[in-house]
Amino acid sequence: MVELKFHCCMPMFIARQWIRHRTANVNEYSGRYSLMPMLFYTPSAEQLQTQSPVNNQGRSGQTVELAKYESAVARWNGIRERSREAYEWLTGEEIARELARIDLPLSTYTQWYWKIDLHNLLHFLTLRVDSHAQWEIQEFGRVMAGMLERVAPLSYEAWLDYDVCGTRMSHMELEALRRLVKVQGEGLSSQAGQVDGNALAELGLSGREARELLQKLAPKERPSFTLDASRGLPGEHFQERFSQAVPKGDRLPEP
Ligand SMILES: Cc1cc2nc3c(=O)[nH]c(=O)nc-3n(C[C@H](O)[C@H](O)[C@H](O)COP(=O)(O)OP(=O)(O)OC[C@H]3O[C@@H](n4cnc5c(N)ncnc54)[C@H](O)[C@@H]3O)c2cc1C
Repeated sequence: MVELKFHCCMPMFIARQWIRHRTANVNEYSGRYSLMPMLFYTPSAEQLQTQSPVNNQGRSGQTVELAKYESAVARWNGIRERSREAYEWLTGEEIARELARIDLPLSTYTQWYWKIDLHNLLHFLTLRVDSHAQWEIQEFGRVMAGMLERVAPLSYEAWLDYDVCGTRMSHMELEALRRLVKVQGEGLSSQAGQVDGNALAELGLSGREARELLQKLAPKERPSFTLDASRGLPGEHFQERFSQAVPKGDRLPEP
């Protein structure tokens, strides 16, 4: 069995989504045992978008004006400074780390070793490079897919063809397509006609299912997750940043 082990560092709000994938072995940095790094994730101006009007679980694609972005960052920084100060004070006072951490924001980082077999990695990647997943976890998924391409290129290509660009279809969806396409000999031929919204409803597709069918059949570009190795940084770089951000005694505020 092929197994892959990743050393990952991500904001807490991403770790909460990632940990839902139960088929991996996880060995996470312990905030009870070790000091937490004072590293905070700040979305770029491009990513600070308004709430999507059609998908309660997503952003609209619409960025905000620069002044609003700066105002958001200033607010985040204010909260972060206070929580950092409290954390450094509490740990400086030798309060247990497991309690000192309780008001650190979800933007702070954790890290873990994540070991998973190839089959379940592909499942994870399919869900997490998908446009419905939060952009930040998509970013991790895209890099991990690029890593996969380098170590298991055949599996990677098959995953793109069958999972990322493939789809499952319900009985009703297939019935709709059978009205337009029929099996003929060794191949397929088209049947004249149209399956409009009413016909889809008669076949039993709800409005949402009908919209999903159209999305499935819309032209889709085959993505590439090939890594640009020139942009890569060694793991030690991140390890160093992580450990540099751990509070030091000499950074504690004056009593
Ligand atoms: C876009 C998106 C939005 C999401 N929104 C929400 C949300 O709003 N709320 C929320 O709570 N979660 C949400 N999730 C998380 C989601 O519900 C799953 O928990 C997560 O995607 C992990 O998927 P999984 O269970 O298939 O993966 P894994 O845990 O990796 O499991 C892989 C597969 O193994 C099998 N398996 C694993 N464990 C068991 C078991 N104990 N018994 C039987 N079969 C098992 C299943 O077939 C499963 O699909 C979201 C996920 C995505 C991708």
